[in-house]
Amino acid sequence: MSPIRLVAVLALLLLAILGWFAYRLTSAPDLAAYVDRQMPPAPASPGRVSATFLGVTTVLFDDGETAILTDGFFSRPGPLKLLTKVEPAREVIAAHLHHAGITKLAAVIVSHSNYDHVMDAPEIARVTGATLIGSESTANVGRGWGLPENQIYVPKPGEVMRFGQFQVRLLPSAHVPGGRWAIGEIKSPLHPPAAVSDYRDGGTYALVIGHGGRTMVMNASAGFMPGALKDVRADVVFLGIGTLGRESSDYQENYWREVVAAIQARRVIPVHWDNFTIPLDRPMVPLPRQFDDLDVTMAFLTRHGARDNVDIRLPVVWQPFDPFIGLAPRD
Ligand SMILES: [Zn+2]
Repeated sequence: MSPIRLVAVLALLLLAILGWFAYRLTSAPDLAAYVDRQMPPAPASPGRVSATFLGVTTVLFDDGETAILTDGFFSRPGPLKLLTKVEPAREVIAAHLHHAGITKLAAVIVSHSNYDHVMDAPEIARVTGATLIGSESTANVGRGWGLPENQIYVPKPGEVMRFGQFQVRLLPSAHVPGGRWAIGEIKSPLHPPAAVSDYRDGGTYALVIGHGGRTMVMNASAGFMPGALKDVRADVVFLGIGTLGRESSDYQENYWREVVAAIQARRVIPVHWDNFTIPLDRPMVPLPRQFDDLDVTMAFLTRHGARDNVDIRLPVVWQPFDPFIGLAPRD
């Protein structure tokens, strides 16, 4: 082959590789395919708990008297920022709290301390008067933001905490293997701006949330601790599915068994499927195919839901819904 032809072939090859990467980083499943699988909206009604999905695993639970938030992440820095340093964007947080109608929170409960879960939680606690709850690593994120000690609480595993009519327990869970990019403890107060890798997970919890005799579980990362949920019975699970679409089918089976089947859930509400480098006031898009595949996960969940009689419903961002709607109380 002549040198010119060789160069041309190599250039074409390079272009093809770059094109493939660009496709994988930008292409994502189409949410329109799941319009009929969305949770229907429900206005708040007294005494009933409503849930509002606010991206990743940030979910507001409100019964009209008391409101609590799981995790806390609104800033959603773009891809280039992730390569340098990140920090909470106060104006974005204030605007999104306003949009969600949040003025006062009893608690902000953090599942683990990766940046897409914990980063904005201390600022949210500060402006809503909430107590920041989570691991010692989460507490150190709070301290680094200047949150006072009397607004930080690290519960013992399984300890029941009460906020109005809500009862909340933290049980051990685990991080999804494919997303383990910042593992370990945050051992001293974390002062942002910080690298995303500084937001170490600090251990991962499943949140068990009781209200009015009914129970929900928030399992924010698609991981599990075998047997940890065996004594929990919950009608609804907010199921973290981030990168689950890229795990092996054995892993997916185990995840279903250890979380959804273990608690005898009757409804799965998948969370952590949105591309969290896109601001929340732009249309929500699933994670790009380079990192995950919502279509694969939804096919898996739909198949198992049909087999085990479990309702699979995607939450719609900003739109309050009744997580228990259509589920008759257990005997
Ligand atoms: Zn995450």
